[in-house]
Amino acid sequence: MHPYAGEVGIAGVLDRAADGGRITPDEALLLYTDAPLHALGQAADAVRRRRFPDNIATYIIDRNINYTNVCVTACKFCAFYRAPKHDEGWTHSQEEILRRCGEAVELGATQIMLQGGHSPELGIEWYEQTFSAIKSNYPQLTLHSLGASEVVHISKTSTLDFGTVIRRLNAAGLDSFAGAGAEILVQRPRTAIAPLKEDGETWLSVMETAHRLGVESTATFMMGTGETNAERIEHLRMIRDVQDRTGGFRSFIPWTYQPENNHLRGRTQATSLEYLRMVAVARLFFDNVNHLQGSWLTTGKDIGQLTLHFGADDLGSVMLEENVVSSAGARHRSNRTELIDLIRGAGRIPAQRDTLYNHLVVHRDPQDDPVDDRVHSHFSSTALRLLPVAAAN
Ligand code: SF4
Repeated sequence: MHPYAGEVGIAGVLDRAADGGRITPDEALLLYTDAPLHALGQAADAVRRRRFPDNIATYIIDRNINYTNVCVTACKFCAFYRAPKHDEGWTHSQEEILRRCGEAVELGATQIMLQGGHSPELGIEWYEQTFSAIKSNYPQLTLHSLGASEVVHISKTSTLDFGTVIRRLNAAGLDSFAGAGAEILVQRPRTAIAPLKEDGETWLSVMETAHRLGVESTATFMMGTGETNAERIEHLRMIRDVQDRTGGFRSFIPWTYQPENNHLRGRTQATSLEYLRMVAVARLFFDNVNHLQGSWLTTGKDIGQLTLHFGADDLGSVMLEENVVSSAGARHRSNRTELIDLIRGAGRIPAQRDTLYNHLVVHRDPQDDPVDDRVHSHFSSTALRLLPVAAAN
């Protein structure tokens, strides 16, 4: 029996967490496995209300530009990559990347997420040239891109230490790192799904180095690849410990593994209920991370909306383009109008944010909502402008 089990134990931990008190990993595990769902959601929502008393929930317009699918890391959950020299491997030219940035700007995007495979052909100079070309053509775009895994990869291909890679990328125009590549940081399940990826401690140490150099990031969690409940909580603990030292994680973004076209073949998957419990426990556990993002992309819009009642204050991106998660079976699409409606339907005030979570537009009156049906998710490498809008909706 769990040492804190029993209604009084759970209620006491929930009350303390709802009041902003710190909970231990053991207590987080107890809440995750045993707390009544309703009480768990209420406690997480109380924390969210105190953090964001303006009752606003946010979304962002951005574009994921997947610059190459060539990758030597061969993660077992990944349906996107192709090994070097594979017939279906591709790497976008700088012109193509700039064209996609231009389209994104046209559609109101404020952020670009450059995310790609670990191609042995791409050294740090490629990234520097690409970032500085984007920044000189589109200075209004924030480059929230790459992640700790890319830093590790570039440090190998260019024989540089992590700090030098981070400094050079930052000097070339990278503003902040995405939290991608965290998957699960605990070594046993991480080795099982991504044996060639850097270990979890290395991922964290790159992020810690970046934070100390003034480059902030987000942190993510891909649930549902066969990890235990205790390992799920351990993932949170590893991130919280670094955050205690650096404060550089702006948000935590849990999402669920997608089962198609990859070596794991969906033998394991997190349920919607597990996902909601994780969102709530994360809100209670991360007393040192400001924002919590619910994923509509991997869990669907209904569950995405429900996360707003379980502690989330952000629904992430409209995703003008995304190819990686969709390759593995994520079929959910949305658009700005729909995200605004989902947020409003949850009793919150929708706002478009930037990368730093500043509110760019607060949608207080439905009559003033933006009407632009081109601002929708699109899961293809094909240029937006070449697609009839109806076909892409
Ligand atoms: S998840 Fe990233 S690192 Fe892993 S195989 Fe796919 S592209 Fe490569």
